[in-house]
Amino acid sequence: MARTNPIYTGLPTTIFEVMSLLAREHGAINLGQGFPDTDGPESVRRVAADALLEQSNQYPPMLGAPELRQAVAAANARFHDITVDWKTEILVTSGATEALSDCMAALLTPGDEVILFEPLYDCYLPLVRRAGGVPKLVRLSPPGWELDVAALEVAFSPRTKVVLLNNPMNPAAKVFTAAELGAIAALVVRHDAIAICDEVYEHIVFDGRRHLPLMSFPGMAERTVRIGSAGKTLSLTGWKVGYVTAPPALLDPIAKAHQFTTFTTPPNLQKAVAFGLNQDDAYFAGLARDLEGKRDRLSAGLGRLGFAMAPAEGTYFVVADIAGLTAEDDVSFCRRITIEAGVAAVPLSAFYDKDGPTNFIRSALPSAMRCWTRRSSGLHP
Ligand code: PMP
Repeated sequence: MARTNPIYTGLPTTIFEVMSLLAREHGAINLGQGFPDTDGPESVRRVAADALLEQSNQYPPMLGAPELRQAVAAANARFHDITVDWKTEILVTSGATEALSDCMAALLTPGDEVILFEPLYDCYLPLVRRAGGVPKLVRLSPPGWELDVAALEVAFSPRTKVVLLNNPMNPAAKVFTAAELGAIAALVVRHDAIAICDEVYEHIVFDGRRHLPLMSFPGMAERTVRIGSAGKTLSLTGWKVGYVTAPPALLDPIAKAHQFTTFTTPPNLQKAVAFGLNQDDAYFAGLARDLEGKRDRLSAGLGRLGFAMAPAEGTYFVVADIAGLTAEDDVSFCRRITIEAGVAAVPLSAFYDKDGPTNFIRSALPSAMRCWTRRSSGLHP
């Protein structure tokens, strides 16, 4: 008998951790990990600092502090015209990752099939498998990342329980179109499935796009779980504060999973995130504008260095094709530029279950192109 669970035993450490370690070892600038290189608003951090000293630090309510649940409900209404009852349809978690874990534990029964889109955020497959779910993968292909609706249709079966959609999508930097979302929603409804929507980058969409939650499509409100993250929305990734919006029948078991996972989330951070979500529209517009500027600068600069850039419509990332620069694969290229050029990115193949393309890399958006050109001679073989 195996002494430890085979799903986690031998699982490699996440690529982010591996590249971050290598970056530290070689003094490289780390554009591998998914976090901004500037901190979130000082006003928000000050609320957290003051609350740490002035309010209770004991367990807050299991579902989350009322003021944060109210703020999440208000943000749903303000930005997406989604009206929910904050008392029964909002849950605060310790990051979107915990929310995803709670969802898998609460919604899946062993043998249930889960449809996911590749390339995918790396915690999805272990979480699905640990809950006994059976992944069914639908692949999107660079550089356009268009959804093949026929392939999605084929992935459904009578055992399909969940479709897990990440929009805007990490690592592809894709924002699903209204037509694609409409097609996904229609299939989810037709097969009486549940959609789990990881929308942590909901406020990071570019070029005048608007984020369209799958929850707002016809027939979806009663079958959708929508997940957000203060880490992304407030540029405070280390805080790990997430929030779930779902109809009561789905939220209730998810909250029970949360109850026996983390139970609560630090109360001072909840208060500060409530303050952060209630900021005026200028903050949210500024977040997207700032990252859009970084996207433009990085895409243009990498283009000049000889990378072929995939379109980047949202998120913290750009994807670059290295085939024009080198014959090596993405993993060895990323290792080499970390050591020789002093900049770390992550290989895109790490975001596939197996047999992903090996000629793409993902870079986070830095504030200054200096990051990529500092020792750019090292980029060339
Ligand atoms: N989902 C996606 C698609 C992400 O990119 C990330 C963070 N990199 C998360 C979830 C995790 O969010 P959190 O830090 O709030 O757990």
